[in-house]
Amino acid sequence: MNLDLSIVVPLYNEDESLPELMAWIDKVCTENKYAYEVIMVDDGSKDNSWQAVQALAQQYNTIKGIKFQRNYGKSPALNEGFKAAQGNVVITMDADLQDSPDEIPELYAMIMSGEYDLVSGWKKVRYDNAVTKNLPSKLYNGVNRWISGIKLHDMNCGLKAYRKKVVKSIEVYGEMHRFIPVIAKQAGFDKIGEKVVVHRARKYGVSKFGWERFINGFLDLLSIQFITRFGKKPMHFFGLYGTLMFMLGFGMTLYLIVSKFFFGGSMINKPAFYIALTTMILGTQFFLTGFIAELISRSAADRNNYLIEEKLGIKD
Ligand code: UDP
Ligand code: MG
Repeated sequence: MNLDLSIVVPLYNEDESLPELMAWIDKVCTENKYAYEVIMVDDGSKDNSWQAVQALAQQYNTIKGIKFQRNYGKSPALNEGFKAAQGNVVITMDADLQDSPDEIPELYAMIMSGEYDLVSGWKKVRYDNAVTKNLPSKLYNGVNRWISGIKLHDMNCGLKAYRKKVVKSIEVYGEMHRFIPVIAKQAGFDKIGEKVVVHRARKYGVSKFGWERFINGFLDLLSIQFITRFGKKPMHFFGLYGTLMFMLGFGMTLYLIVSKFFFGGSMINKPAFYIALTTMILGTQFFLTGFIAELISRSAADRNNYLIEEKLGIKD
């Protein structure tokens, strides 16, 4: 049977929320007559989350479940959920009832309209701690928009909707769930939309992410931008800056030599000498790093992993 909708729910120690969440999702989906599935990915919970999933599966035949052997993180959980999803539209939602299932119909309609590959929720009004979360989040999203060029207000929102092909074409690993729109855009899915969504205070359990998220997130953003631009041609990065640095150091050395011969004095007791030396050494190291990086990217298994949109007259 062709499914309209897959709802992927990553969960870690959320046993209290699950019955309420499932009842709500079921109510919304039944009212809208969706052929749907809920894929609950238990990310190695230590409470009774898996028992709760099993009990709910007795009650609702729309539930599917995956349980990790241990806690791997939200990104791997989403990635497994994406692999299993069969609906034409895939919606991800946190398990903690902070995202409202009432948003499902509109998100679903936005994807089905064909106008979007991906729609991200925007928690315009947030019910989290103002100092540790809301303020840094504003700043963080600003930096995100600036570096990634994707104009989303709330990139890390757990509530998102995707066209099936998007989730089947991307890989979410590490802590990259914060940047799925960036990953999707890089895969060529650039019709990215946004929808203001209702956000609710956490009713049960505790948040799994603290302030470190902003530092780690920023580092991940830099990595992802770097990998996209230079992942397949690292020498273009390291070679350029290595050469520039080396030439700078070399130029300074020449200048020092010339000035020694014309104006006398010692060459080696000037600060410029040490700066020139260091710059040349660093430049060379940059250059060599470029070669090593080329070797690595040349032997990467996915070096020719293109995403083909359509074929004409060519058999697989
Ligand atoms: N989560 C997960 N694995 C983890 C951490 C979190 O699957 O290692 C899930 C968690 O259960 C929740 C969602 O990811 O469903 C978002 O987590 P949380 O509510 O703690 O984040 P916050 O809302 O505070 O940003
Ligand atoms: Mg939450």
